[in-house]
Amino acid sequence: MKRLFTGLRGKPPQPSYDAVIIGAGIGGLICANLLAREGLRVLLVEQHYMVGGYCSTFRRKGFTFDAATHFYPLLGNPSTITGKLLLDLGITNGWVKMDPVDHFHFPDGSTFAVPADFDVYLSRLKQEFPHEAENLDRFFVLVREVYLSGLLTYFRWRETDRLDHYSYMTVRQALDQHFRDPKLKLLLAADCGHWGSPPSRTSFVFDSMLRLSYFLGNYYPRGGSQAFADELALRFEEFGGHILMSSSVERIVVGNKRACGVEINAGPAHTQQTYRVNAGVVISNADLMLTLERLIEPDHLDRDRVAAVRRLRPTHPCFLVHVGLKNMDVEELRAAHGYHWDSWDSDRVATNSFKIFVPTLYEPAMAPPGGQIVIVQKLTDIDYDSIADWTTHKAKVEDYIMQNLERVMPGFTQKVIVKLSASALTSHRYTLNHKGAMLGWEMSPDQLGENRPALNGMLKNLYFVGHWTQPGGGITPVIVSAMEVARKILNGSHKKAQKAA
Ligand SMILES: Cc1cc2nc3c(=O)[nH]c(=O)nc-3n(C[C@H](O)[C@H](O)[C@H](O)COP(=O)(O)OP(=O)(O)OC[C@H]3O[C@@H](n4cnc5c(N)ncnc54)[C@H](O)[C@@H]3O)c2cc1C
Repeated sequence: MKRLFTGLRGKPPQPSYDAVIIGAGIGGLICANLLAREGLRVLLVEQHYMVGGYCSTFRRKGFTFDAATHFYPLLGNPSTITGKLLLDLGITNGWVKMDPVDHFHFPDGSTFAVPADFDVYLSRLKQEFPHEAENLDRFFVLVREVYLSGLLTYFRWRETDRLDHYSYMTVRQALDQHFRDPKLKLLLAADCGHWGSPPSRTSFVFDSMLRLSYFLGNYYPRGGSQAFADELALRFEEFGGHILMSSSVERIVVGNKRACGVEINAGPAHTQQTYRVNAGVVISNADLMLTLERLIEPDHLDRDRVAAVRRLRPTHPCFLVHVGLKNMDVEELRAAHGYHWDSWDSDRVATNSFKIFVPTLYEPAMAPPGGQIVIVQKLTDIDYDSIADWTTHKAKVEDYIMQNLERVMPGFTQKVIVKLSASALTSHRYTLNHKGAMLGWEMSPDQLGENRPALNGMLKNLYFVGHWTQPGGGITPVIVSAMEVARKILNGSHKKAQKAA
């Protein structure tokens, strides 16, 4: 796949930079842009040959598949903070707005499409559940209230007591307190798969923030996820940044109790070079356990704090099946896409539901002419370390998914041109995310705010961006982490960084 940006391409990095960023996921890319735009000399190091982490694509037989992410809330709406940020950075790629935002298929065969307009959504809910109309009003007044307080608390790090009653509430508790109808309860949590955890372990505040953000626009990137990530890399280079691809940071160098550089294995194995680069600050967008346990000598870190991080629960991994199709009726795909449930209990998200996503409904150019793409996402509740035979695991889950696709769309199998599956091991292999977790640590009430690893403070001059740190997982929180880290660095906690080296 042709890249928009050039990268250092065999040229060595400079001996020193103001900032070195480990990992070119969206967190690393956004932070790199914000620092380079202000004139800092920044090196971005990525172990993979593509940028984007979970926001990358791959190509087979003319089909371009999103490796993972496909919902990009807010980013195409310039009146939101993150949408405006992209505009300010000069991102012109373009976004396709989703309407309906999502589609749910229930165990009784009925369906519900979530419209992109909140008032239409609420009135459809009331039409379908007239006996819960008042409860719906009360519920969404609360959702709006915690959404606003949640933004202040989690996305702006402001202290407020407005969340006192709700910060420990799970989605399940909020639904049980407001509603009796089991179908409505499932409907309001039917998309919980995107949290990588069941509603009984997902924060009501975080869920409310996402739920309402959909009505400010939910988007698919024009040209797919890679087009977005590559353009971020291109802008970074235009700001003067350096990108070292297929290069892995092997160690964070510590001197005088501060992070002061990195050691890098650069280039593909057969031409590998080792570099040591000095850095005013080091920012890790890489997996947090990997950063703390493999990149930093244990003596430099507080053991109790590392042990506390190790005790956190990661989100479930997400199994994916990527299918390229020919001669498939687009209306049949439109009708089938969305979350499919065969249980009324939303806590069974990892066992009794899967999601069909059809990127070609938004961007036909992802497939060759006449082709369509189906991507199935299925959370898996696995004990990662106990799986010895990943081939058998993969075949079993893939088989389950293909049987379901054939059930939902009879004749589907005959239209398949290409089919690939990705397990938790695949997710780990390409991004090094701990146990292939989908969104870092679970966004459960006990793992948010100050209970989630902070953006800095583990070691002087070391920062974290991405879904393993505050505020949480998913594209919007990851961008927020990068904005906040850039703000901290630029706001003078690191004036010295510019002078370093
Ligand atoms: C299947 C799936 C579907 C998802 N769907 C959505 C969605 O629709 N909407 C949404 O908002 N979120 C979604 N998410 C979650 C979202 O993709 C992630 O939370 C987000 O992309 C994480 O971004 P990040 O910057 O933290 O890191 P990552 O994307 O994990 O990137 C980290 C980068 O660091 C690199 N790296 C690691 N170690 C090193 C090293 N030592 N040296 C150099 N480089 C290194 C990796 O190669 C990787 O490129 C989904 C996740 C999955 C798995």
